[in-house]
Amino acid sequence: MITIDKSNAHYAFSSENAPSAYAKDGDTVKFRCQDCYNGQILHDGYDFSNVNMKLNNPVTGPLYIEGAEPGDVLRIEIIDIEIESTGSMCARTGAGIYEIDGCHCRRIDIENGSVKFDNDIRITIKPMIGVIGTAPESDVIPTQTPGEHGGNMDIRDLGAGCLLYLPVAVTGGLLSMGDIHAVQGDGETVICALEMSGDITVKIDVLKNRNDIPTPFIVTKEKYLTTAADKSLDVCSIKAARKMHVFLQQHAGLTDAQSGMLLSLAGNLRISQVVNPAKGCIMEFPIGLAKEVFEK
Ligand code: CA
Ligand code: CA
Repeated sequence: MITIDKSNAHYAFSSENAPSAYAKDGDTVKFRCQDCYNGQILHDGYDFSNVNMKLNNPVTGPLYIEGAEPGDVLRIEIIDIEIESTGSMCARTGAGIYEIDGCHCRRIDIENGSVKFDNDIRITIKPMIGVIGTAPESDVIPTQTPGEHGGNMDIRDLGAGCLLYLPVAVTGGLLSMGDIHAVQGDGETVICALEMSGDITVKIDVLKNRNDIPTPFIVTKEKYLTTAADKSLDVCSIKAARKMHVFLQQHAGLTDAQSGMLLSLAGNLRISQVVNPAKGCIMEFPIGLAKEVFEK
């Protein structure tokens, strides 16, 4: 299997990034990833003022996929996310949406599949990828920011077993990923989750002529998820919902009115995160309910 070491870290999605590895259509690749603090939270109670923010949010890659051309879609099957046994998180003044006095960093252990938050509170882990994206055509997009290329989406559904579809804007696609979370709630409201180093294994296929897929698009075992990002929650909630509205018309043969009514009954419009430079929303809809035809 192709393995990309975490030393291949970078901090922006850009067509200028030189590939760190090459894969063929259909290959399985392991990305070894550093946590979002780049391993700088050394112990429980660590002083955050020692953290070099320029090293924050590294992604591993980029991977050049042979045969991927602008206009194609990458189908990324998330096969496995292996995480270390201890993660980091920090709550601090001016970050996230709460009023918090001072800066508090923790190292938190995972035991028997649960986050050991304290002696009484355990949270079952559900490992997920925070940042995953392809290079945009000409922009340079910092790894903090989500967008049409993917990026810092922080969608808690993005775990092992799901499919993620991302656009190809440059030859080779240039896929990178990182920012693994052991578990995260919708909103990611304190600005971080339990931040983990670990290995992500994905299988990548190049899809041609698939402009029916509203990227970045996620398919889990139970549901479809359309996604959007914008500085305004109003704007990104409408964008995410309208992507699903069009998807159901295209794939389930529904009229605009039927699709809208069905989404109003059975679609869930959710916030993914409210703490990144652009906020994120998703519209989720159950697979099979609309008797839709979608070639995965
Ligand atoms: Ca993130
Ligand atoms: Ca994170």
